[in-house]
Amino acid sequence: IDIFTGRDVAVFGLGVSGIAAAKALSTGGAHVFAWDDHPEKRWKADEQNVQTGDLSTADWSRFAALILSPGIPLTHPTPHWIVKKAQESGVEIIGDTELFFRQREAEGSNAKVIVVTGTNGKSTTTALTAHLLRESGRNVQEGGNIGRAVLDLEPFADDAIYVLELSSFQIDLTPSLHPNAAALLNITPDHLDRHGSLENYAAIKARVFEKMGEGDTAVIGVDDPETRKIAESLTGPYAVKQISAEHEVPEGVYAEDAELFEIGNDKRGDEVSIEGISALRGVHNWQNAAAAYALVRSQGLTLQEVELGLRTFPGLSHRMQLVGKLGRLLFINDSKATNADAAGKALAALDNIYWIVGGRAKEGGLKGLDRYYEKINKAYLIGEAAEDFDKALGDDLEHTISGTLEEALKQATEDAIAAANPHESVVLLSPACASYDQFDNFEKRGEAFIDAVLAIDDVIPADS
Ligand code: ADP
Repeated sequence: IDIFTGRDVAVFGLGVSGIAAAKALSTGGAHVFAWDDHPEKRWKADEQNVQTGDLSTADWSRFAALILSPGIPLTHPTPHWIVKKAQESGVEIIGDTELFFRQREAEGSNAKVIVVTGTNGKSTTTALTAHLLRESGRNVQEGGNIGRAVLDLEPFADDAIYVLELSSFQIDLTPSLHPNAAALLNITPDHLDRHGSLENYAAIKARVFEKMGEGDTAVIGVDDPETRKIAESLTGPYAVKQISAEHEVPEGVYAEDAELFEIGNDKRGDEVSIEGISALRGVHNWQNAAAAYALVRSQGLTLQEVELGLRTFPGLSHRMQLVGKLGRLLFINDSKATNADAAGKALAALDNIYWIVGGRAKEGGLKGLDRYYEKINKAYLIGEAAEDFDKALGDDLEHTISGTLEEALKQATEDAIAAANPHESVVLLSPACASYDQFDNFEKRGEAFIDAVLAIDDVIPADS
């Protein structure tokens, strides 16, 4: 990054993206002053030769910009002290993704950039989009909110295509954001503690399309009221592709019964099936697949390339991840489902379920999930939430308090085997809870599940 050569730049928040930004700026000849409120983050930065300096006592008149981590609140609930400091000193506040777009502009690079955002499904859509492009031989760089920080990716080669997952916080810090194609999947209330209102949150998400021009493609979900409003207001010189898993659209991609239909001028054109692709089970994943389809077609992929790539999509770990099989019994790891809403997506997508649920309960508990109880044979309750969930389930759903994940898996597997189901059945970990009572994080919880499943006699691993 040489757009700040010779200038002083403050970097605040030394997570993965902050460190990448500090390094990229230093390499390009900027004088970097990096800081984090947490001493252990500063030690990590020091270890990587990133110069730290206390920004609370620094002379702010010297800074050309503050590169802020997307984890730091700009406004809600209150602005962080660093934000106030920068504002008082008239120093512009931007994120690492802004540096990326300014550098691309400065180099006049022909590299393409695809951006994926939305409340839910960002990682799945980003991973699928990158996978399809990669499988068809493109030079793909995948990062942002998923995987590597944008400034850790390979710098601009003209044939590169960047697939970036961006959160609303990152978009908020990227005034020069100009993707060649972008998808806004959905907008539902989330992060409102940081964005104040749904209107404000939606307005930030909508900025993803703001700078797009001729030849660019806007992909927009139309299955919720907020994105529908945005879709109606899109009138740029760029192409607009609507995506829906609920109703036909005039122009875009419609997903129905695991089938994607490309639609132009109100007419159905090409279609491709995602039936049987286990990583794309469930209506919510049809929406993600429709978006990925629209994005890669905008970059010239043929129908055949898409069809071939879909077949080899491995999915993401801990999200409806098929771990193994025992005859007709499947073991699915959906550890990422840390709230009732996400668990509901898994329950909706499956049948004949032995459900492992619990952990540290979120507000609302199991609210809204009762509509799926008829698909669940039995629930196995784990973690702190077990007693509350026991009361909440009452006589509505057969269940037992298992306590630990291992015990729950053991009991669920025994019950499923004893039932000798003639159809496919599923032992599902979709906890609807945070993991912190028993695990470091949802990844560790998912890995514990995978290890325990693969230790069961005769289980055939999904990736074999
Ligand atoms: P994100 O990166 O936006 O958090 P992921 O792709 O990691 O999204 O999916 C996380 C969870 O969100 C999934 O386990 C599923 O429960 C839910 N989800 C995924 N895609 C969608 C979607 N299109 N609409 C609603 N919920 C979704």
